[in-house]
Amino acid sequence: MTFRALLVEKGADGAVSASVQDVPDDRLPDGDVTVAVEHSTLNYKDGLCIAGKGGLVRSYPHVPGIDFAGTVEASADPRYRPGDKVILTGWRVGEMWWGGYATRAKVKGDWLVPLPEALTTRQAMAVGTAGLTAMLAVMALEKAGLSPPKGEVLVTGAAGGVGSVAVAILARLGYRVAAVTGRTETADYLRGLGAETVIDRAELAEPSAKPLESERWAAAVDAVGGDMLMRVLKQVKYDGAVAAIGLAASAAIPSFTVIPFILRGVSLLGIDSVMRPRDERLDAWCRIGTDLPLDKLDHMIAEYGLSDLPALAPAILDGKVRGRPVIDVQ
Ligand code: NDP
Repeated sequence: MTFRALLVEKGADGAVSASVQDVPDDRLPDGDVTVAVEHSTLNYKDGLCIAGKGGLVRSYPHVPGIDFAGTVEASADPRYRPGDKVILTGWRVGEMWWGGYATRAKVKGDWLVPLPEALTTRQAMAVGTAGLTAMLAVMALEKAGLSPPKGEVLVTGAAGGVGSVAVAILARLGYRVAAVTGRTETADYLRGLGAETVIDRAELAEPSAKPLESERWAAAVDAVGGDMLMRVLKQVKYDGAVAAIGLAASAAIPSFTVIPFILRGVSLLGIDSVMRPRDERLDAWCRIGTDLPLDKLDHMIAEYGLSDLPALAPAILDGKVRGRPVIDVQ
């Protein structure tokens, strides 16, 4: 038996290449659940793994794909039976372990969650790690005390994967959402997702010499990092919070100051989706089933096949992918 996969290989010259190939089943990694993968997606990390960048992949040949959804084919884990629909995101699958860019995957049952009834595998992958991260960010902000009457919520990197889903969830929950984008041509798309205001990235890109700016936002979801994150922290209202989910601009904050934390009680909340415990994932997927408007989600989807991935990788690394790519692996 074989399965079809996007196989990333390293040549004798060290060059990394990716191509769709038939792979014998006996090359699947160890695991207690075998899944017939139906859909996957494309994240920044997938772009790095396909391009052989970022040092995420330790051994070749490798099957990338950090997320997948499909149907259980065989299971030694009593929680799963053949025919069950499941989702996998994170746990370093697609980096350390073979991932979802394949018609078949073998993984640990602990890494899977059941597909919520409200979603198809295609919709679950339109959500993917990006959408799960957006939901975790919203849940963290709620835990920190955020509610719609507190004021406007800012989302940076808004036209990207995490940003798009964050905008749609927040708007659905009744928040007034301001979306920061460097692609002003996406303004209609962002308003369609529920953003009330669209802000040009240039307004927040440069560091401010002031220790604090006027209080504007009750909270923020930040996908960008760097000096933009610092600008946002300086504009958050007293006792507000910022969920830091990404580093699309930079991991470093050259203009860093603790002033917003110690004079305004602002909190910076770290969001990791990769190693989140299973219970929290189950809660987040349940919330996604109720709080993410599926018509808006469908509007974010662009569908591709496995063979499109080598060309998509540089696009996501260049910040040129809008919304949520769904990969139909079959
Ligand atoms: P995308 O590439 O889909 O979106 C990132 C967005 O950031 C872009 O669309 C763009 O938005 C904006 N952006 C890109 N470059 C810059 C820049 N130089 N300055 C300002 N804005 C920029 O990625 P994702 O949404 O999937 O991921 C976003 C970030 O979150 C990434 O850094 C990713 O690694 C990280 N991540 C973290 C996770 C976690 O568990 N914490 C999980 C998933 C992702 P626009 O065009 O609107 O300006």
